[in-house]
Amino acid sequence: MMMPEVIYRQAFINGQWCDAQDKSTYPVNNPANGEVIAHVSNLGETETLEAIDAARQALPAWQKLTAKQRSQYLQTWYQLIIEQQEPLARLLSLEQGKPLTESRGEILYGASFIEWFAEEGKRTYGETIPSPLPGRRITTIKQPIGVVAAITPWNFPNAMITRKVAPALAAGCTVVLKPAPETPLSALILAALAKKAGIPDGVFNVVTGTDAVAIGRALTQSPVVRKLSFTGSTHVGKLLMAQCASTVKKMSLELGGNAPFIVFDDADLDAAVTGALTAKFRNSGQTCVCANRLLVQDSVYDAFSQKLASAVATLQAGPALEGDFQQGPLINAAAVAKVQSHIDDARQHGAQVLTGGQPYLQDGFFFQPTVLTGVTENMLIANEETFGPVAPLIRFQTEEQAIQLANQTESGLAAYFYSRDIGRIVRVAEALECGMVGINEGAISNESAPFGGIKQSGLGREGSRHGIEDYMEIKYLCFGSL
Ligand code: ADP
Repeated sequence: MMMPEVIYRQAFINGQWCDAQDKSTYPVNNPANGEVIAHVSNLGETETLEAIDAARQALPAWQKLTAKQRSQYLQTWYQLIIEQQEPLARLLSLEQGKPLTESRGEILYGASFIEWFAEEGKRTYGETIPSPLPGRRITTIKQPIGVVAAITPWNFPNAMITRKVAPALAAGCTVVLKPAPETPLSALILAALAKKAGIPDGVFNVVTGTDAVAIGRALTQSPVVRKLSFTGSTHVGKLLMAQCASTVKKMSLELGGNAPFIVFDDADLDAAVTGALTAKFRNSGQTCVCANRLLVQDSVYDAFSQKLASAVATLQAGPALEGDFQQGPLINAAAVAKVQSHIDDARQHGAQVLTGGQPYLQDGFFFQPTVLTGVTENMLIANEETFGPVAPLIRFQTEEQAIQLANQTESGLAAYFYSRDIGRIVRVAEALECGMVGINEGAISNESAPFGGIKQSGLGREGSRHGIEDYMEIKYLCFGSL
C-alpha cells in the first residue's frame, strides 16, 4: 500500500513536533473497519496557549515579508502537496473513509486554495479616495488581522484546512489550527509539508486533541487571537460566537445546510439524475452543501424517482483502499444511527423506500445508498441535516410552492435546481434564500468562487477574491495640513 513515508502522530507547535505535556494520546480509527490507525498526541488548554504564543511571536516577521515572499512559500507548499497527492489521498481515505477518487480530488481541491491565495495575496489593494475637505488626502491600506484560530471538521480533512490557512498566511496572519479529532493525520501531514516548504516556525501550528471544549475555550478567550474561522455544526458555531463576544473577535462561520435540490417539469431529467448523484451521494452525503431535500414537480415525479433509484442502486460501497467503490462508510456509529432514525421517522409517516434503506451488515459504518418517495415537509428528514446517503423525494405542484418549500428552513447555504426555461431560471435563482445556487449543476465548489451561506448557515466567504478579505482589516489614513 502506497502510504506517506511517515504518519505524523505528534502535534505541531512553533515548528516542533510535540507530545501532550502529560504524554497522553488518543486512537484514530479507520471508519471502514474500526481498526486503530495511529495514536495521536492529545493536547489541552496549556498546549493551546503555547501554540497561541508561538503564533504571536511569529507574527511580526511574517507580516513584514512582502506579499510576494509569502506567495513563494505558499507556492512551494502547494508544489510539495501536489507531488504527494497519492499518499495524501490514501491517508485521507484511511482516516475519513471516502472513496479514493474523491480523496484524490480533495487533495487537488485543497491545494488549489494555496495556489489561488498565493496569487491573491499580492492583490490586497487599498484605495485613494477623493477628499470632501481641502488640504487633505484619504487613502486606505489593508493589513493582516493578526493571530487566527481555525477549527475544522472531519468531512474534508484537507480542504477545510487549506481554505482557511492559505488566505490567512497569504494575508500575513499566523494560525493555530484545531483539526477534527477524527481526522488529525491529514492536518499533520499538511504541517509537515509546510515545514518542508520553509514556512517559518510558529506561522502554522496544529493542536490535536479530543477535548474540543478546553481547546476551544483557550482559543476563544485569548485576547491575542483576533479572529476565529470555524467550519462545523450550527450548534457549535453559535456556541463559539457567544464565546468570542468577550474579546470581540472577527468570525468566519461555515455552518450546516439543508440544501434543496429542485427538479422542475421542464428539466433534462437525465442531467438532473447525474446532478443529484453528485449533490447527494458525494462523500456518502456527508457535506454541508449536500442536497438534503429533493423537491420534484408532480408531472415528472415518478419518472425522476425511477431513474434516480436505478442509478443509486448501482453505487457500490466498500473500503476505499480495497477497490473502486463510489460509497465509503459514514464517519461513526452515531452517524449511522441518525440516518436510520430519519428513515424510520419518514417510513412511520408514510414514505416508501425505493432502494436501500438500511446499514450494510459488515464491519465499519456503511449505509446503503437510499431513495425515499412520498416524503412530506413535516418529516424529520426534511427539516434536519441528514448527513448521509439518503435522497428524500418531496412532491410539489407549482414554482411558487417549490420556492416556498425551498426557503422553509433556517439554513441558507446551497441550493440546486434543474430547469431549461430562462425566465424561471432567473426567477428561482433570485428567490432562493441561500449563498450559492447550482443551476443545472450539482458540483459547485472551486477555489475561484465565493463559498458561504446566509441565514443560520454562517458568516463570511471562503475562496475567491473575497476569501482573503476575511483575514484583513481596512485602515484609513487621513493626511492633513497639506
Ligand atoms: P460535526 O458534527 O461535523 O463533528 P462539530 O461542530 O461538532 O461538527 O465539529 C466541528 C469541529 O468543531 C471539530 O473540530 C470539533 O472538534 C470542534 N468542536 C466541537 N465542539 C466544540 C467546542 N465546544 N468548542 C470548540 N470546538 C468544538
